[in-house]
Amino acid sequence: MNSQLFKNLVLWLVIFVAIIALYQLVHTPRTATLEIPYSEFLEYVDKGDVKELEFKGEQILGEFSSPVGESSETGFKTVGPASEDLLKTLEEKGVSFKFDANKEGSLTHILLNWAPLILLIVIMVFFMRQLQAGGTKAMSFGKNKARMLSENQNKITFKDVAGVDEAKEEVQEIVEFLKSPKKFTKVGGRIPKGILLVGPPGTGKTLLAKAIAGEAGVPFFIISGSDFVEMFVGVGASRVRDLFAQAKRHAPCIVFVDELDAVGRHRGAGLGGGHDEREQTLNQLLVEMDGFESNEGIIVMAATNRPDVLDPALLRPGRFDRQVVVPRPDVRGREEILKVHSRNTPLDSDVELTVIARSTPGFSGADLENLVNESALHAARQNRAKISMQDFEFAKDKVIMGVERKSMIISDAERKITAYHEAGHALVAKLTPGTDPIHKVTIIPRGMALGVTQQLPIEDRYTLSRTSLNGTIMVLLGGRAAEEIVFSERTSGAGNDLDRVTDIARRMVCEWGMSEKVGPVTFGKGEEQIFLGKEISKSKDYSEETAIEIDSEIRSIVTENYNKAKTTLEDNIDLLHKLAGMLLDKEVIDGKELEELVSSHKPQKDYPSPWQNPTTEGSVAFRSSNNSEDA
Ligand code: ADP
Ligand code: MG
Ligand code: ZN
Repeated sequence: MNSQLFKNLVLWLVIFVAIIALYQLVHTPRTATLEIPYSEFLEYVDKGDVKELEFKGEQILGEFSSPVGESSETGFKTVGPASEDLLKTLEEKGVSFKFDANKEGSLTHILLNWAPLILLIVIMVFFMRQLQAGGTKAMSFGKNKARMLSENQNKITFKDVAGVDEAKEEVQEIVEFLKSPKKFTKVGGRIPKGILLVGPPGTGKTLLAKAIAGEAGVPFFIISGSDFVEMFVGVGASRVRDLFAQAKRHAPCIVFVDELDAVGRHRGAGLGGGHDEREQTLNQLLVEMDGFESNEGIIVMAATNRPDVLDPALLRPGRFDRQVVVPRPDVRGREEILKVHSRNTPLDSDVELTVIARSTPGFSGADLENLVNESALHAARQNRAKISMQDFEFAKDKVIMGVERKSMIISDAERKITAYHEAGHALVAKLTPGTDPIHKVTIIPRGMALGVTQQLPIEDRYTLSRTSLNGTIMVLLGGRAAEEIVFSERTSGAGNDLDRVTDIARRMVCEWGMSEKVGPVTFGKGEEQIFLGKEISKSKDYSEETAIEIDSEIRSIVTENYNKAKTTLEDNIDLLHKLAGMLLDKEVIDGKELEELVSSHKPQKDYPSPWQNPTTEGSVAFRSSNNSEDA
């Protein structure tokens, strides 16, 4: 609450209290402090103790001829009818009486009686106004929060979306339809009502939806799924209703629900249980989607990166029955996206976008945009007018590995251990065929890590072979192995490595069927959704014996690779010492320098390949960029 509002409130409260007090003061006749029952009053009249009377509606104010009882006052008050009998008696007893015209029906009386209530209402109205003016909009519950981009405001077109040609092609039809709906409806064509854009975060789903509207030149309503979900039950549903009513007035148009999973998750799931707010909102969304015909010119689009958690009802025909996948860009796509985002930035002649694209596997469109931006900032900081390759290299390291922490103070002993640890990773990677080439090794602390060994694949990989997975595990364990060989000691620095090793090994056994003993079976499905409300506990679809077998297989994969990594390093111990020394010296070593070091070194004996069994069964999707970070 802002202070201005607070002051106003206090002021109003003071006025309110003052008026009440005043009202009370005026309202109570000072002469009539003694209240007596009507029956007693009649007795007094009979006895002739009453001198004067005034009738105010039902109220009777009077005065005794002399004080009665212990009180010294003569005034009294009672409530009762001014019956004819009473009036007769009064006349007999010679009591003077009058009727007050200014009684209950009068305007001032009403005003006085209602003053507190009126005041309260005034304050309420005032308070609401304040809240709304203050931008909190606490009272605009039912109104939808959709932003409308009219056809003139939306300048995004397909030109701005790069590297997702398949997706663009798929939605081309929608653009045609929105441009001239008649052409399609005349021949009885049925255009899908709902289109679901599916893909990882930052791949341009929101961008693509906007581009469709921009291409077709129609209004675009955008609302995020989380905007529907509110504290108050029923608000989300009314927002949906409001949104669609608005959209119908602007047809043809696009309604875009971003982050659909926020409302569209499986109903009846999660800890809340029962009919919660989200469920009502989802139901309303389904009702609205069923409620209009496709020829009305409204196309509902939605985006999600978790299609697996969506309620199946959303995906039924007539709803989001068309799915368009927006994947992470491949090498060519990344180059296109880099081109789009460096359109308005001056690039130096040495910049080769192809090279940058090749060294950024797994980057999404948003990552690449960020990369260009960081490079521009770096160039600007050094007062250069053009972005050079060196800026891109700096930005890439920052994006991938985090900011350098030059100020961090590390003891010499710790630096030495880190150097051997990273040298271990790098050397195992270098000496093991089938692993990704080393891009950079550094013992400059970055982000949470004391050192980083960065590997970059030559090309994008969509499947991983068992060989390469084993290689990855070996490289990850190389750090720990080097520590153990050189210092006969184990440090906590390898914790992150071990985490990743265990994860890969577990997936090899449980998901990708790469263990002979366990066989090509998958286990523990649905574990990933534990925190998404679908499943509360891990589903364990295997027996205790299998669990033991799985554990032993995981352990044997890890141990075997650890021993191989250790042997590799022991066989090349001179090289390890040399590399670690170089790292301590220079802090950063790139792939080329490592190559030179290794090739100039003559090994004592032929290096035996650890790969006696290069099988390639088991295909898996996996992010291919690979950094070994050490906390
Ligand atoms: P999503 O909705 O899939 O999470 P966004 O559409 O919000 O991703 O993308 C965020 C930003 O990243 C966009 O504004 C755009 O600048 C950039 N971007 C993402 N994908 C692309 C792409 N394919 N082409 C060009 N720019 C992209
Ligand atoms: Mg988005
Ligand atoms: Zn490590």
